[in-house]
Amino acid sequence: MTAHPRRQWSPPRSQRPRPPPGGDVNTIPWIPAPARPIVFKNASVVDVANNTVNRSQTVVLENGVFTSVSHNWNVVVPNARVFDLEGLYLCPGLVDCHVHINMSDGRPSSGYTEPHLRATYTLKAMLARGFTTVRDVGGATFAQAQAVKQWLTPGPRLFQGGNILSQTGGHGDPRSRESPAASLCCAPVPEMSVLADGVDAVTHTTRELMRQGADHVKICTSGGVSSPTDALKSVQFSPAEIRAITSTVADMQGTLVTSHAYTVPAIRRAVENGVRGIEHGNLLDRDTAKLLASTGTFLTPTLMISTAKGRAPWNDTLPDYMREKNAKVRDAGRRAIQIAEEEGVTVCFGTDLTMGMGYLQSEEFTQRAQLLPSHRVLAHATTNAAKLLNDDKIGVIAAGAYADCLVLPTNPLVDVRVLDVGDDGRHGGIWGVVRDGRIVVARGEFAELVEDVGGLDVVLGIDEAK
Ligand SMILES: [Zn+2]
Repeated sequence: MTAHPRRQWSPPRSQRPRPPPGGDVNTIPWIPAPARPIVFKNASVVDVANNTVNRSQTVVLENGVFTSVSHNWNVVVPNARVFDLEGLYLCPGLVDCHVHINMSDGRPSSGYTEPHLRATYTLKAMLARGFTTVRDVGGATFAQAQAVKQWLTPGPRLFQGGNILSQTGGHGDPRSRESPAASLCCAPVPEMSVLADGVDAVTHTTRELMRQGADHVKICTSGGVSSPTDALKSVQFSPAEIRAITSTVADMQGTLVTSHAYTVPAIRRAVENGVRGIEHGNLLDRDTAKLLASTGTFLTPTLMISTAKGRAPWNDTLPDYMREKNAKVRDAGRRAIQIAEEEGVTVCFGTDLTMGMGYLQSEEFTQRAQLLPSHRVLAHATTNAAKLLNDDKIGVIAAGAYADCLVLPTNPLVDVRVLDVGDDGRHGGIWGVVRDGRIVVARGEFAELVEDVGGLDVVLGIDEAK
């Protein structure tokens, strides 16, 4: 046995008061120091807007943004980590425009702490899948968005609208919603909606959502699959109520009211009264697609949720009414997304996965790739999403944009399924994930490059294979 020298602690000679973090009582101690700059050389940069790849690019990431993208090989950035990405693609970070972070992963449970614990895992898991931005359309809070922004909870940058605004007896009525796994545990879903009826009440509630920091307001104008007592065909909120909501949001400088709507009457009532976002839209017809295109209304289909509910093991967990409703919307949704593309609607990427289905998020790419060319599907999750979010720093690798990007072994404009699975069938198709100029995921050959320069900036600490 080797004898270790005895470690000793001796008291300080004088006791000086310790200064506050950063020398300033106003410092927020959890804000991380800026990441070291990154220079990607020799990168094949994916330009989604132009459906092209720009070869041999030098891309500089500093202080959370791209500061230059050029052919200049001789860029020198002090203290930078330099990567030679020869043969690799640099793709804009992905955006999922329809998520519920408090309900995505794990088995549903009663109680009010679990949704927040679940959200912490879900945010990390979504980032590990390459989603550097998500839009929550029911349940997330302003505080959660701030926690992500400040890197206290690693995750995608989060756009949120607070709770869903529903009429009594509507799709968002929390008293009548059930989880898909209801037959397993009989637990109600966590609170994610608020009820209001009549012009005065919806105006007040909309103002309250805006006060709470909503980036958008989500309403329901049709019935839904996971609510037993509202018919899919029901049309919800009166025209006057919808106008009260949309005009209040406009007056308060909000960006968008978006509506859960499956049927043509529900979509039309929403759009004719100022709504400019449609969620799901599975029963959309061609005339209504033309209306969406001519009014600049965004469509966010969610194919994966109805696909998952229609197959094992999830179909067995559904009550009969839910299985019947799901069958009505599943195949229709696949036609609707094609009609919308043909009519020039701005189509966005959404998944809507809840109650343990979050791990299927990336399969939405594979589902859409069966219906549309890969470059269109990639636009749904990048450039079109940026328009929906009204933020031109998203979905593009260009000077001034957020330094959110993926390192890929192949060109996603040719086969977008690389964003779903790798060669080995795991989540290995994406080799690197960078958000805000911080490297959070490194796999494959990119992992070796990152190891050489000191490792990851942020360790997610989750099992990414799940
Ligand atoms: Zn949803």
